[in-house]
Amino acid sequence: MNIILFGPPGVGKGTQANRLKEKYNLLHLSTGEALRAEVKNQTELGIKAKEAMDKGELVSDDIVVGIVVNAIGNVGDAKGVMLDGFPRNISQAITLDKVMEEKNLKIDYVVSLEADRDIILKRLSGRRSCEKCGKDYNIFFSPPKVEGTCDECDGKIIGRSDDTEQVHLDRLKVYENQTEPLKKYYAEKGILCNIDGMGTVDEVFADISKELDSK
Ligand code: AMP
Repeated sequence: MNIILFGPPGVGKGTQANRLKEKYNLLHLSTGEALRAEVKNQTELGIKAKEAMDKGELVSDDIVVGIVVNAIGNVGDAKGVMLDGFPRNISQAITLDKVMEEKNLKIDYVVSLEADRDIILKRLSGRRSCEKCGKDYNIFFSPPKVEGTCDECDGKIIGRSDDTEQVHLDRLKVYENQTEPLKKYYAEKGILCNIDGMGTVDEVFADISKELDSK
């Protein structure tokens, strides 16, 4: 099974992805995470991507598509791929279809998480993660037991460099203008599943599982 986890920044895609990959044995491919790793390692690709990322804009398609093409088809023991943060515009969606077809694969479902704008902005402003092991936290909704320290590994809890209020607003605008129209694209293919993303992590996970298990 190959799925796309779709929705605005901050809706909780990463949190759900961590659970879904265990339950359905999927390779989780987050283009945002892959790009942040390139930036951290100061690779040529990371240096090119950083400017757009810091402004909340989209990184150019050729950079992102390269990352995805390398990973699809290399899922190892997993039963499929779960794309998170890709595609983000119509040209990426068309390229994805082409790449999948070349590999005799297809996207089975697009799980679209929905939430109100004010909730998304609060989730974005509270978002933190562990510098060492990458575990996600939210200072409003799921804080670490000890402020500033990871529950799992004692690593330092940090924010992302693109987590500022102006960047949040810009990222939402980019989502609404370029990414949200993809819902129509996938609805027309009959593979879009809309999920209410405003419940607790457990509730949202249960709703997604119910939807996928009923297919
Ligand atoms: P994310 O972690 O998914 O919120 O992504 C963080 C940032 O990485 C985005 O704001 C973009 O600058 C960049 N990015 C991630 N995925 C893509 C994509 N599919 N296309 C273009 N830029 C992307």
